[in-house]
Amino acid sequence: MSELETLTPAQAEVVRQMQVCNACRYCEGLCAVFPAMELRRAFDGGDADYLANLCHNCGACYYDCQYAPPHEFAINVPVAMAALRDETYARNVWPAAFAGAFAKHGLWVTFAAAASVALFVAGFVAANAPGALFAPVGGAGGFYRMMPHWAMAGLFGAVFLYAIAAIGVGVRKFWRGTEAQAVGWAEVWQACRDAATLKYLDGGGMGCMNASERPETDRRRLYHHFTFYGFALCFAATCLATVFHELGMQAPYPLWHPVVILGALGGIGLVVGPLGLLAQRAKRDADIQTNTGMGAAFLWMLCLSGVSGMLLLALRDTPAMGSLLALHLGLVFALFLSFPYGKFVHGFYRFAALARYAHERRTRTVEAVD
Ligand code: SF4
Ligand code: SF4
Repeated sequence: MSELETLTPAQAEVVRQMQVCNACRYCEGLCAVFPAMELRRAFDGGDADYLANLCHNCGACYYDCQYAPPHEFAINVPVAMAALRDETYARNVWPAAFAGAFAKHGLWVTFAAAASVALFVAGFVAANAPGALFAPVGGAGGFYRMMPHWAMAGLFGAVFLYAIAAIGVGVRKFWRGTEAQAVGWAEVWQACRDAATLKYLDGGGMGCMNASERPETDRRRLYHHFTFYGFALCFAATCLATVFHELGMQAPYPLWHPVVILGALGGIGLVVGPLGLLAQRAKRDADIQTNTGMGAAFLWMLCLSGVSGMLLLALRDTPAMGSLLALHLGLVFALFLSFPYGKFVHGFYRFAALARYAHERRTRTVEAVD
C-alpha cells in the first residue's frame, strides 16, 4: 500500500491495527470507531487521524481482543489511538513552533503558573500598597481595588480569545487534513449530544474498563462530567458577573447571588472531577496505560484553579483576600494560556470527529476498493 510510505509511525501503527480489526470486526458494537472503520476498505493518514480522535479511550476493545499481546498481531487499539491523538495535536498546533509544548506540557505549564502568579502578586503590590496583599479590602468592589475591572476583563478576555483562535486554527487544519466534508446543523447537533453525554465512553454499554477487564461502572464518565460541567458553570458565572458589573452591581456578591451559586457549583465540579480522573488514571491497567504528563498537568491546573476559587469565596472578607485573588487569577491566566498547547484541545478534536461521524453515518456507504 503506497500510502504507508508517507505515514508517520503512529499513523502507520493505527492503519496496521485497523486493517486487522476490519477483517475481524468483533468489536463493532463497542463505540463509533469500529462502525466508522467498516465504511473503509483502506486507510490513509487522514483516516487514521480521524479514527484516533473518534476513540474515547474506554479500553473495552483491548479486553475483548483475541489478538492482543502476547498474540503476534499485538493489537492494542486504545494505546495506538492515544499515541496518534497526541501526535495530531502537535502536528496541527498554531503557531507551529509550539509543537514541542505538548510533549513538555507539564514542565512549561508549571513554569507558566509560577510566573503568572508571581506577576499578579507583583502587579497588586505595585498598583496598591505593599501590604495590600494582606490588608482587609472586602466589601463591594473589593476585588477591583486590587485590580481595576477594565484591566481584569481586558487581560482575561484577550488571553481567552487568543486560546480559542489558536485552537480554531489547529482544528481547521486537522479537519482539512482528514479531507472531511462540510456537515449540516443536524449533524452538529448530534455531535453536541454525543459529546455532552460522552456516549462512546461506555464500552458499548458495559461501562468503561480502566483497572481490569471488569467494567468500571462508568466512574471515568462521571468524573469527566464533573470536570466539563464544572468548567462550564465557572465560565457561565464569569460571563454573568460581567453582565451584573455592567449593570452597576460590583463583585463580590452575597452567597445567594446567582453568580456565586454558579461559581460555587462549578468550583466543586473542578475539584471533584479532576481529582477523580487523576485517581482513575493512577489505577489504570498498565497494558492500556496512556498517561502522559500533558493530561495530568491539565487536570492539576483545573483542580488548583477550582481550589483557589473556592478558597477565595470562603475567605474573601478576610485579610487573605488580596493574596488569594492574586493566586487564583495567576492560575486561571496560566490555565487559559495553556489551553491551545495541552489536553484541553482534545474536546475540540473529538467534537470535530463526532460531527464527521454523524455525517458519515447519514451519507456514506462502504467505499470501493482502490
Ligand atoms: S480490537 Fe481485536 S477483537 Fe476487536 S475488532 Fe480489533 S482485532 Fe477484532
Ligand atoms: S472508544 Fe473504547 S472501544 Fe472504541 S476504539 Fe477507543 S478504546 Fe476501543
